[in-house]
Amino acid sequence: MSANSTPLKLEESLDPQDWEALRELAHRMIDDVIEYHRTVRERPVWEPLSPQERETMNAPLPVDSSDPADVYDEFARDILSNPMGNIHPRFWGWVIGTGSTSGALAEMLAATINPNVGGGDQIASLVEKQVIDWFKQILGYPETASGVLVSGGSLANQTALQVARYVTARNAGVDVRKQGMINAPRYRIYCSAETHSSVERSMDALGFGSDSINSIPVDDQYRIDIAALEAAIAADRAAGLTPFCVIGTAGTTNTGSVDDLNALADICEREKLWFHVDGAVGAVGAMSAALRPLLAGMERADSIAFDLHKWMYLTIGIGCVLVRNGKDHYRTYTLTPDYLKHGTRGLSGGDLWYSDYSAELSRPYRALEVWMLLKEHGVGKYGRMMEQNVDQARYLADLVNASPKLELLAAPQLMITCFRYRAGGIDDATLDKVNEEMLFRVQEAGIAIPSGTRLHGKYAIRVCIVNHRTRREDLDLLVREVIRIGDEIVRSL
Ligand SMILES: *Cc1c(COP(=O)(O)O)cnc(C)c1O
Repeated sequence: MSANSTPLKLEESLDPQDWEALRELAHRMIDDVIEYHRTVRERPVWEPLSPQERETMNAPLPVDSSDPADVYDEFARDILSNPMGNIHPRFWGWVIGTGSTSGALAEMLAATINPNVGGGDQIASLVEKQVIDWFKQILGYPETASGVLVSGGSLANQTALQVARYVTARNAGVDVRKQGMINAPRYRIYCSAETHSSVERSMDALGFGSDSINSIPVDDQYRIDIAALEAAIAADRAAGLTPFCVIGTAGTTNTGSVDDLNALADICEREKLWFHVDGAVGAVGAMSAALRPLLAGMERADSIAFDLHKWMYLTIGIGCVLVRNGKDHYRTYTLTPDYLKHGTRGLSGGDLWYSDYSAELSRPYRALEVWMLLKEHGVGKYGRMMEQNVDQARYLADLVNASPKLELLAAPQLMITCFRYRAGGIDDATLDKVNEEMLFRVQEAGIAIPSGTRLHGKYAIRVCIVNHRTRREDLDLLVREVIRIGDEIVRSL
């Protein structure tokens, strides 16, 4: 076969036409980034998009090139000015971290080198190994454990559960990677009613189906009811079902509650079940000696999933999973077609291919930001920041308890406090409506972003402080505004 190329003409690249002009623009970008972060407190947390602002994203497909400075100006006008708000000191919605200025710069450096951390003999794989080794130390895991960085807690849970599935099937004499789940018994997994929805999604993706989930009630602090769990396992066994895994949560999404992980570890040992901990919210609290006792038993898990973009304040898109038996983790995922054969020399050399540890082949350089920020701040600083957040959540609970117009609905276990506005003579159903309306107004006025949830049937304002910029004065302001707006709504009833 022959190929015919055209005669040589001007060869293009995507490099700048004018390096000096781009250097100048890049300096302006960096200046703007620093200013944007430095002054974030002075702006509203969030503002609803106007119809005109929405319309900016209905533009025609660009066919011809533009000056990068013009594109940047458009970005600054239409996009930078409309943030989600989670970098703001008064953002406490859901469990969304703030990121940091150093984190943004680290991401730029990662993109500068732009390696594919799927494999090959390269420093990027060793950077990832380095941070995984540090996390093993932080969480009290053995050196023989393995780990991998993924996009977040959802994929970390799924990765761990895929290893659990592989090992469980193998113990029953089945190669699930070959045979799949077709002839599998009716497996059962146990977790509390407060478990994150990503577990259900994982069970779906892995072929178990959500019927495999045995949802166990929680106690008055939203922790899994241990006696109910033991009874459920026994009842399932008696019904001919096959228990295989228990999930403990280290920091639930609603209230930041931590299950009794030692009790779960004991049950799993006795019943020969895989013990997984979803530590998306709370696991990194182990960086603080003061908070570590709250997570006791986590280190006994067969696998731990956790987020770095929530309570560790890293840029969104970084989670981690650790697996106690590193060899089984590898066996679950390794797959080497000819074009990915690991060599003994050259760039394809090196024993450590992270594509052998999750569903991702091409993988971004998540590890660089983790490495840089752990070096910059040290575990000590992170531990102090997390203690500060826990303390702030308790401070908010004190403010709530001190006000007759507020009612605490969930005391903080870690960094989440839930409460509601109340006024005398108003029934629960109306209070639900008042609180929901109040939350919308607080958000739409750009004052603060808590989120809403329901606790024991009551609508709750939920404040989750995974935010290194929050100060106590921000919580004072929230409480003042919640009461002011709540009163305003009640007057208009
Ligand atoms: C947020 C969360 C997850 C999912 O993590 P993502 O990073 O959003 O994918 C899993 N478990 C818990 C408890 C969470 O709060």
